[in-house]
Amino acid sequence: MGDVATNVEDGSLALELDRSHVFHSWSAQASLNPIVIAGASGCEVWDFSGKRYLDFSSQLVNTNIGHSHPKVVAAIQKQAALLATVAPSHANLARGNAARKILEHAGPGFEKVFFTNGGADANENAIRMARLTTGRDTVLTTYRSYHGSTGAAIAATGDPRRVPNQFSRGHVHFFGPFPYRSEFWASSPEEECQRALHHLRRVIECEGPTSIAAILLETIPGTAGVIVPPPGWLAGVRNLCDEFGIVMICDEVMCGFGRTGDWFAWQNKVLNPEAIVPDLVTFAKGVNGGYVPAGGVIISPKIAHAFDERAFPGGLTYSGHPLAMAAIVANIGAYEEEKIIENAARIGNGVLGPGLRKLAERHTIIGEVRGLGLFWALDLVADAKTRQPLATATVARIKASLMANGLLPFTTDNRIHVVPPCTITEQEVETALAIYDKVLAAITV
Ligand code: PLP
Repeated sequence: MGDVATNVEDGSLALELDRSHVFHSWSAQASLNPIVIAGASGCEVWDFSGKRYLDFSSQLVNTNIGHSHPKVVAAIQKQAALLATVAPSHANLARGNAARKILEHAGPGFEKVFFTNGGADANENAIRMARLTTGRDTVLTTYRSYHGSTGAAIAATGDPRRVPNQFSRGHVHFFGPFPYRSEFWASSPEEECQRALHHLRRVIECEGPTSIAAILLETIPGTAGVIVPPPGWLAGVRNLCDEFGIVMICDEVMCGFGRTGDWFAWQNKVLNPEAIVPDLVTFAKGVNGGYVPAGGVIISPKIAHAFDERAFPGGLTYSGHPLAMAAIVANIGAYEEEKIIENAARIGNGVLGPGLRKLAERHTIIGEVRGLGLFWALDLVADAKTRQPLATATVARIKASLMANGLLPFTTDNRIHVVPPCTITEQEVETALAIYDKVLAAITV
């Protein structure tokens, strides 16, 4: 447990500096009043007054290993003293080891890893690989998705409320399955899956199969509400990709590296009983807990070998940055030694999921509990029958009350995402469930 800084003056200074000098993402600048974080350890963060919060956001769903893990911190320090930066054209041990460890857990079907600085540029490069190897241009992605905020990644992102389609040249969106808020009038997850696959087939046919380079999917759409697809969806998309020569890209930036209780979400046996394998997988966040920015693309042999004799036109100064790579190796090593994936599956499916479902029985404001592992969302409703989403102003009140009660939440639109670090303990989950319960009981809609 790290030291708790309790210097209120530093807290005031941090806020003043932020409000005077820092330009924030995704926000109107004038109305901001961010919480000031002084330090963090494990599943807790604290402010300068010493107030502690259980981090049930994992920041932006990236501190999967928890905060300040000593093995990862030590590995970064050691690497910094040895080789802090190096051109990506030079081989180095940290990068080779990181790629090897990632491939080991991705399993058969992959051969190489291309490293980026985060998730958006991972998607940029995966899309570029798909376009270059197929000689086609169009990328199909789902509405209700988030793929990052750089050029092609934001074009791929499919939430018209946040990201107007003006950015979406070269990308065509379709509806993936979402049984609770079906676009297809389906009455069961199986029917939703079949209809969504039929819709996707029609989109492919109407756009012209020979123009489509890739289908890019979040394996489980995260920011859009932890929309776990029905079994059969991933295999159905794989079949369409095979039929039409389309590259299948799974975006595992948020759902990868332990979040679902597996190394990767596509490996989950309930989600993917057919055990299909995508052609490209993008990752970031949990690969090293966010300690040093890193992301990348895991590449199938077919696509990797397409660039044996011709150059891949793309690169980044910090591709495979040694500090990020050392953090990846230590992060994966700690996962293995401390059985962190097993912990995510056990606590997530055995304690957190059932606990959230019990909460839904007590609070009609919870329309649906969705998720698996440590990747959950509460879909909050103003009316349980019509499923009308809860007003965002009410969600803001819930968020403030959760924080006042010592829990740092992650909310989007009408949802609370319940996404603690994969190192969370049963006791911490029980504490958090009691806080959600207390706050939801007190809220007036
Ligand atoms: N893809 C998914 C599924 C994400 O959730 C995110 C970020 O939240 C990104 C891509 C973009 O990652 P980054 O912010 O590291 O660019």
